[in-house]
Amino acid sequence: MAKKKIKKSKETSVKKNEYVETTRKTKQTHIIPCTDCNTEIEVDLSVASILCGNCTMVKMIKLYGLPKGCAPKKKSDTVKPPGWHFYKEFVDKNGNVYHKGVEQPELFGTLKSTVIKTKKKTKTLSAREKEEISREIFAEIQENKKALHKLVKSGKTRGKKGLINKIQKLTKKVKKYL
Ligand SMILES: [Zn+2]
Repeated sequence: MAKKKIKKSKETSVKKNEYVETTRKTKQTHIIPCTDCNTEIEVDLSVASILCGNCTMVKMIKLYGLPKGCAPKKKSDTVKPPGWHFYKEFVDKNGNVYHKGVEQPELFGTLKSTVIKTKKKTKTLSAREKEEISREIFAEIQENKKALHKLVKSGKTRGKKGLINKIQKLTKKVKKYL
């Protein structure tokens, strides 16, 4: 039994060697350049031309674009105001028409782009700034009151109305800063 076993293993080992030799024979290679970038690649003799891995990837991306999640987000060149998709009708700078955020391709380019109103930022004043402004206005009111007093004393009526109006306007204005 033992002898037979040895014989068998010898036979298989010979077979293995034969197999290696045959594969070596069929795997004859040659070096050819990539058709796009000329990088030299070792290929099977049966291969006449090759596109290297890098060039294949570039070609695929050119054909199909970057895979999802890889592509950088397109920055829209048209500025849309916040809440534009709630607008009954919104036309962007390129002429795309949207009705409540839904594009209306049949209306493309038929309407003027929506004018985006930007709210002016009102500068918030500090308490000190408010006090200074109100003080200035109070001083102006005082001057006008003096002028009015003089006018009344002198018995003139010309310009009286104007002064009263001015004082009223200034008192209204000063209330904003109190
Ligand atoms: Zn290449």
